[in-house]
Amino acid sequence: MNNMKHHKEALKDKIESGARISPEEALTLFSFDLIELGRLGDLRRKMIFPHEQAGFIIDRIINYSNICEAGCAFCAYHAKANRVPAYELSNEEIIEKVKLLKAAGGSQVMLQGGLHPTYRLDKYLEMVRLVRETFPECFIHAFSPSELVHIGKKEDIDLISLIGILRDAGLNSVPGASDILVDSVRERVSPKKIKTKEWCTVMDALHHHGMMSSATMTYGMGETYEERIEHLRVIREVQDRTAIIRAFIPWSFSPASTQMDDITPATGIEYLKMVAIGRIFLDNVIYIQAGWLTEGMKLAQIALAVGANDMGGVLMEEVVVKATGIETRTNMDEMIAVIRNAGKKPVLRDSAYRVIREW
Ligand code: SF4
Repeated sequence: MNNMKHHKEALKDKIESGARISPEEALTLFSFDLIELGRLGDLRRKMIFPHEQAGFIIDRIINYSNICEAGCAFCAYHAKANRVPAYELSNEEIIEKVKLLKAAGGSQVMLQGGLHPTYRLDKYLEMVRLVRETFPECFIHAFSPSELVHIGKKEDIDLISLIGILRDAGLNSVPGASDILVDSVRERVSPKKIKTKEWCTVMDALHHHGMMSSATMTYGMGETYEERIEHLRVIREVQDRTAIIRAFIPWSFSPASTQMDDITPATGIEYLKMVAIGRIFLDNVIYIQAGWLTEGMKLAQIALAVGANDMGGVLMEEVVVKATGIETRTNMDEMIAVIRNAGKKPVLRDSAYRVIREW
């Protein structure tokens, strides 16, 4: 047996034993055959989540404004990208959207926007209170780490105080939008957004308040495999320290209509490998979401066989990905059918991943 073959066999045994793998070992996984890697991903999913169920939530993202002073190269949503005209939602429009979610049996509202140049903390508090008053029982999962740091700087207050104020107004949790947590990549694709250390500081501040978050990954922006694994390493380390990351959500970069439209989009095999590697490496994250919005329903369904165990939200509205020309839509019936057809039990869940309804 040559050295590489021996190394791969030893790594396979290690993964099957449930042991934590190193970043160097994770790097080797990119060279694994998809079927073998997928089998290992599903095995590790069973070790941490021994149920054959896959959940989804009915939620609505309210993108309150696309006016943003960051102008990231990978984003087609912000107004200066000239894809979506500049807009700001009025209070009445926000209330209407929340009412529609409530009427549709939804349970989670996400508020997300760019780094608005003139909004102050009062505006964000007003939005949270509006949602809370319109739909008192809903779960408000809002404002990315970049938005929080942006607001904190504008107000000159520290993150722990800022998050405490927003929580007292009704904020429940924060989506851990993380792109790629490698500063050299961030400097290239989003130089005006927060750096890795600040992202970690936001996670620590949320942990201070006992608030939960998530972690995403936007790969395929010209980064190396080493940089992808470094991203996972940062997330695993933060999770070891805080245990606030409920879910990991990888999705591939959609280059159309961005300043980086010369990049060839990542393939389906690459996506499935990222799901499986994320599952194996992140041994401290229970849920891995299949990204149907960017990858399409068919690929997301296969992701359930290689380590994913959640389908995310039946989104009632989405503007950011749509700006790149992708218009994937779904509904509850399709979600149930896709999960069933994957050999899993569909469950409707809430934001804390508690089962609300089973089929
Ligand atoms: S990714 Fe966010 S911060 Fe960057 S330009 Fe788009 S809206 Fe602004």
